[in-house]
Amino acid sequence: MDRSVTCPPMAEPEQTTRDVPADLMDRVVNLCKRRGFVFPSAEIYGGFRSTYDYGPIGVLMLRNVKDAWWRTMVQLRTDVVGIDASILSPPAVWEASGHLKNFTDPLVDCTACKQRFREDHLDDPNVCPNCGKRDSFTEARNFNLMFKTHAGPVESSAAVAYLRPETAQGMFVNFANVLNTSRKRPPFGIAQVGKSFRNEITPGNFVFRTREFEQMELEFFVPPDQGSYWYDYWCRARLDWYVDHGIDRDRLRLRPHDADELSHYSAGTSDVEFLFPWGWGELEGIANRTDYDLTQHAQHSGADLSYFDQETNTRYVPHVIEPAAGATRSMMAFLIAAYDEEEVRGETRTVLRLHHRIAPYKIAVLPLSKKQPLTDLTREILAELQPTWMCDYDETQAIGRRYRRQDEIGTPFCVTVDFDTVEDRAVTVRERDSMAQERVPIAELTGYLAARLR
Ligand code: ATP
Repeated sequence: MDRSVTCPPMAEPEQTTRDVPADLMDRVVNLCKRRGFVFPSAEIYGGFRSTYDYGPIGVLMLRNVKDAWWRTMVQLRTDVVGIDASILSPPAVWEASGHLKNFTDPLVDCTACKQRFREDHLDDPNVCPNCGKRDSFTEARNFNLMFKTHAGPVESSAAVAYLRPETAQGMFVNFANVLNTSRKRPPFGIAQVGKSFRNEITPGNFVFRTREFEQMELEFFVPPDQGSYWYDYWCRARLDWYVDHGIDRDRLRLRPHDADELSHYSAGTSDVEFLFPWGWGELEGIANRTDYDLTQHAQHSGADLSYFDQETNTRYVPHVIEPAAGATRSMMAFLIAAYDEEEVRGETRTVLRLHHRIAPYKIAVLPLSKKQPLTDLTREILAELQPTWMCDYDETQAIGRRYRRQDEIGTPFCVTVDFDTVEDRAVTVRERDSMAQERVPIAELTGYLAARLR
């Protein structure tokens, strides 16, 4: 395959105007709180700005977003392996990566209302968006976004450590370790999912921008002449991933960075953006980082981070294509994209039309009564389904209300055990989106669901 060619640019679909309620964001945030997706952190103490806790339903969904990413990026490929690197890291790593010097945002203060802003996020750099005062900003100061701490009991400069602001550096500093142990050769990738920390000046929009968040990053190491091929490949593949997991294509776009937006080392960057209720926002950046990172770490550490290709008898420093996504931010996009309300028999039904791989629970098992013999039958069915799928179990309230609750948390299938089940050993399976119901013999239930939850 000739990998020195570049793919033609992707055509953007027509942007359609959508019938999105003006308060969609409030409704989603409200649902998150009401149903146990996301809670403000330390809420009983008044909350802690911009930090959130993922509740019983949210933790399942966030895990599913990360698992779906891992499945596509690692499990279904032969050219990617994973790692889990430490969050605490020494200054040397960030010195070499350039973060100590360059990972800054321009910060301005309004002298009138004392609010702080990122200068590059202001609509009008002369007007305070909080109090409306003109020409009230201080000179911009560069503010480093990394959280600094001390490792060990002594707060000396020798003990300084940083919480990683991205997972990527863990892959670069482990490049030689992975190369020597995994039997992979370029083009190959190292994937990682985990927490990152940035002391954001203006966190906000719910979990869109927080100081503690989760990332899903791949560093894909390629021979230098294959850089543009793989950059185009990953731009397409990553956009497709969101579509394959249920986000409409016309709510997504791939936005190439203008030349003045590019980092100094980047030979090209494109963002996958989602149409949030307030406008387009980044979900993921795909960057052609050239040989910058490995060269920097080789120079600063003295380690040899080149690769000797025995087939061509050449030694080179691999170029890196990096698709870097946010797990928590993507989860929010999946929630917004899936949120729907419809009229059903004169009542509003709220339903999360989530892709089954992202949905917190795949199946809810609902006995019509909490009495025998339905309890035993329900246990039997749960024992059959639970080893394969995350199942909810709910035995209280009228069945209609239980269905609505499952709709609201996006459960694709409800399995109802009723008194006929005792006689015919069959259950009613209700599908979330169509609300269609089908009678399925217990003996065929696993196969029936497996065919639909692939
Ligand atoms: P932004 O321009 O929104 O600050 P970025 O370009 O600095 O993002 P990257 O460094 O490319 O972001 O990080 C990759 C991904 O990590 C982003 O696309 C986003 O999904 C996620 N991410 C970055 N910062 C945050 C944050 N503060 N809160 C939540 N997710 C974040």
